[in-house]
Order: sequence, then C-alpha cells, then structure tokens
Amino acid sequence: MLPLIAGNWKMNTDRASAVALAKGVAGGAALHKQVELLVCPPAVYLSSVAEALAGSGVALGAQNMYHEANGAFTGELSAAMLKDVGCQYVILGHSERRHILGETDAAVNKKTLASLAAGLVPIVCVGELLAEREAGQTAAVIRRQFEGSLAGISAEEIEKIVIAYEPVWAIGTGKVATPEQAEEVHADLRKLLIERYNERFAATVRILYGGSVKASNAGELLAQPNINGALVGGASLKAEEFLGIAAAG
Ligand code: PEP
Repeated sequence: MLPLIAGNWKMNTDRASAVALAKGVAGGAALHKQVELLVCPPAVYLSSVAEALAGSGVALGAQNMYHEANGAFTGELSAAMLKDVGCQYVILGHSERRHILGETDAAVNKKTLASLAAGLVPIVCVGELLAEREAGQTAAVIRRQFEGSLAGISAEEIEKIVIAYEPVWAIGTGKVATPEQAEEVHADLRKLLIERYNERFAATVRILYGGSVKASNAGELLAQPNINGALVGGASLKAEEFLGIAAAG
C-alpha cells in the first residue's frame, strides 16, 4: 500500500494563498511518487484548489461533512456535494470537531457510512486526551472510538477506509508522540481490525499518525511497521515542509 501524506489546512489560508499552496504541492508531487499526497483545504476553497491541482495526481479532501444527502440542514455539506467539487477524501471525527464542536462517535459513524455510500474515502480520526493517557486509558479510549465510529462497517467497506491516530495532546502542540508510543497504538488498532474482520482485510487499512508531524520527525514515525502515512496540520501550510514529509515516506 502507498503511504498517504494528508494535509489538513484547518481554518487557514485565503483563496489566493490556498491556490498558491496547492500549486506549490502540485509542483513538487512528481518527485514523491512513493507516497500518495492529499490536501484538505477549507470547504469554500475546494473548487479553486481542485483547479490548481488538476493533472498533478495530488488528491483533494474535505475536513468534514454532514450525513444527510440533502434538505433543511443550514450550513451543512453533503458527501455528494464534496464529490461534485472534486473531493476523493473527507476527514471525519477530527479531535477539534470532537472536543470543540461536540461531535460524538455516533455522529462520526453516520458520517462514515454516508461518505462510503457516496464513494468518498473517509479518514476517521481517533485519539486520547492527555488526562486519559496519564490515567492509563489510552487503549480503552481508542477501542471505544473505533467501535463507535466504525460500527456497522462491512469487511468490503473497511478496505476503503483510512484511520488516523491523533493523540489530542500532540495536535498543534509541537509535542510529537515518540515512534514507540505511536506504534503501540497503531498496533492496537491493527489488532482491533483483525479481531473484527481478519488479517487480510486488516492489512489493507492505512493507519495514519497525526500530531506535530514535520519533515524532521516524519522519517522515524513512517518507518514504524503499522504507521502507513501522516495527517499533518501546521506543517502542511508550507509546501516545502509538506513535501519534506512526503520525502520521508
Ligand atoms: C491535525 O490537524 O490533524 C494535526 C495533526 O495538526 P498538527 O500537525 O498541527 O499537530
């Protein structure tokens, strides 16, 4: 499987800088064929970024969606709308959505099922808070989020899903998990996949690490056997740094 290096631009950039950043990533993509590159700009810039990426092989994703197909859901976007503007991926259950906006496992689960039904690849995020890690609850939290967010996903569907492990204490803090800390949780996630499906299906699922990844620490993280890519926030806002992470893949 090709490692996936995904950039989550969050609520950053304006249209001009989003297009410039996309062009910067697209311009370097040909040198990094050993990974799949993905950028996830703010939803209002998806179309402009899609144009800037055309023909580059860099994939486009959204940062969130709603599970309903259409109707009276003011301010929300459906999976079909995201597909319509060129998205192949959608990030779901990011810790900022879970902890700032109150998104539950049940909501993430509905979104995951709807994204798959529409032909989008969901990147389903899980991760523990610092207090949970310190209380020795990491494995239990990951299991709960895995079971809740991925309830009712068939073996065929699991092959189309990407999981991202993002310890909340490492997101945007500069405090990266050690490769051993990250690998321990990734190996637990792989075991959960094997328990629920089987070895063959579990082996097809890419499990990304996210949390203060940059070009200088990406190599040792991506060298771990169960780390199949990175979900990158801050460091994805500079094309050169993002491509530096791709080079480590
Ligand atoms: C993220 O937004 O998913 C993330 C991991 O952010 P950062 O790389 O800035 O820690």
